[in-house]
Amino acid sequence: MKAKKTYYIHTFGCQSNKSDSERIAGDYAARGYSEAKSWQECDDLIVNTCAIRQRAEHRARGFLHGVVVHFHKLGKQRPKIILTGCMVHHGYDKLYKMMPMVDEILPINEVGFNQAAIRKDKKHAWIPISTGCNSFCTYCIVPYSRGREQSRPFEEIMQEVERLVAEGYSEITLLGMNVNSWGLEKVGIGFRKMMMEHQEFTREDLPSNQSQYLTPEGIPPFVKLLRAVTAFDEIVKVRFMSSNPWDFHEELIAEVGKNKKIDRYVHLPVQSGSDAVLYRMNRGYTRQQYLDIVTKLRTADPEIVIGTDIIVGFPGETDEEFADTVDLAKQVDWKVGFVAMYSPRPGTASWKLYADDIPHKVKKKRWEILDQIINKDNLQERPIVV
Ligand code: SF4
Repeated sequence: MKAKKTYYIHTFGCQSNKSDSERIAGDYAARGYSEAKSWQECDDLIVNTCAIRQRAEHRARGFLHGVVVHFHKLGKQRPKIILTGCMVHHGYDKLYKMMPMVDEILPINEVGFNQAAIRKDKKHAWIPISTGCNSFCTYCIVPYSRGREQSRPFEEIMQEVERLVAEGYSEITLLGMNVNSWGLEKVGIGFRKMMMEHQEFTREDLPSNQSQYLTPEGIPPFVKLLRAVTAFDEIVKVRFMSSNPWDFHEELIAEVGKNKKIDRYVHLPVQSGSDAVLYRMNRGYTRQQYLDIVTKLRTADPEIVIGTDIIVGFPGETDEEFADTVDLAKQVDWKVGFVAMYSPRPGTASWKLYADDIPHKVKKKRWEILDQIINKDNLQERPIVV
């Protein structure tokens, strides 16, 4: 009998990529492939890339170089290399030049939501509920790499939840780049087209309404979805990420407060504690608006803990602006903070508009200060619960 062809997926980056890889695995299984134990022994090697920072791209390129060297040394035929994920935004021509060992490029949206995922975890499942992003934060590559935001239909999500419940799953994380804008009505966006067609634009040309969606009347769709998912008796815990401040409506705060099946940990990226930096980032909220959401969440349930993402060394970040972020960290007391040093991503608005003018050693120092305050000092103060 002819042996089954095998695949192996090497995943870089965020949880969305890991979730996409589960669907790619489902796609390969549906085509009769079996999973190889390692990339050294597969027929098809799928590399799911991340482009959020330059370093992430270097890691993918370094990995592929290592694969080529490995097989060359052994004098063996290397596997077919298929590249997917966020680096696809570079375009085919550039990618084939950048990484000549790549045999095929697979845009992630061709895998589709409907592909049954192969999950290793049998208790907790990641469910993508939207893809892409309509919010053009100036530093971010996602709106270009993953395209416009699309919400997955309610019925389709619920069918997947039902299947998972039948298989014995009890914990679910709903995933989206801006998960809490799921199902909202679009205002319309023209910025990307403008950016692609015209070389020149200013910060003022960027869409002013960060959400790009109409404010919902009544209960926001995402709250209705949370209620529907938590209505299953078998589901005991629901998480969601990443939520963003501009679509964190009052009704969502109230729902998180009272619906105890929703995890008490809320991840709410702030990126900076300085209004001026937030403006340059086009985040669409002020420090005070962020603080208001935090206060309301903690009023709704004092047990709620909050985590965040922060970028230090954004172009033009002065000592005073950085001090505002330090001050906010002390005020909010985040449980966890993913602090990153700014690195310009070619093609993004900040790359076009601003010089990367903060020296690396200043970025590093700022990173250390925030990491200490948020992640290390907190650990000493809080008992670790196992
Ligand atoms: S909300 Fe902003 S940071 Fe998040 S994916 Fe969209 S553009 Fe990027």
